[in-house]
Amino acid sequence: MRVKHKKWADPLIAAHPEMMVDNAPELKGKWQSRFVKKQPLHLEVGMGKGQFIIGMAKAHPEINFIGLEIQRTVAAIALKKALEEELPNLQLICGDGEDLQEYFEPGEVAKMYLNFSDPWPKKRHAKRRLTYKTFLATYEKILQAQGIIELKTDNMGLFEFSLESMNNYGMRFDGVWLDLHHSEENEHNIETEYEQKFAAKGQPIYKLIANFK
Ligand code: SAH
Repeated sequence: MRVKHKKWADPLIAAHPEMMVDNAPELKGKWQSRFVKKQPLHLEVGMGKGQFIIGMAKAHPEINFIGLEIQRTVAAIALKKALEEELPNLQLICGDGEDLQEYFEPGEVAKMYLNFSDPWPKKRHAKRRLTYKTFLATYEKILQAQGIIELKTDNMGLFEFSLESMNNYGMRFDGVWLDLHHSEENEHNIETEYEQKFAAKGQPIYKLIANFK
């Protein structure tokens, strides 16, 4: 997702420390203090403009959600949308998925979502894919023992890579879907911005759920 830098992004982020965390390491091990209720914590890495994480927070008041985005302007767009809602179970972070171990204590997160992550199709960029083994090792640390990862993408290359990488890492799969939108799994599906765009063009959406047990 490429967006033009917006001048209002930094001031908006600075004006809403209650909703968007700009210095995530400060809250390591203390994320529950940011929410009204202490309940399981779900994290999306690469939330984009936030449609999915906001939709999830609305649909699941019994879960605390955190959306993480690296691009400041994109994060600020998500923040703007989140501010239009009143969601005591949602927090946003402007930060880098590579630094998750600096943001979260081991076991602090119950579930993670990777939606339409950048595919990095060139072989020499494989290490940047969010399902490369180094990222998986990070997820394993911050996730609780029963923790799971849910991934959705339209990109077959990234999907194949992720299946292989997770399998080689020793992860187990709870489910794999090659056409999510025409499956029973779609019943409670919350769509992301990219998902809507690609599905409208008739592209199948791939999904997997995996764990580290
Ligand atoms: N999940 C959204 C956006 C997908 S595009 C959707 O499905 O519509 C992928 C997003 O991941 C981009 O906004 C990009 O900036 C973000 N991203 C890529 N690498 C990241 C990283 N290391 N940490 C956090 N966000 C990242």
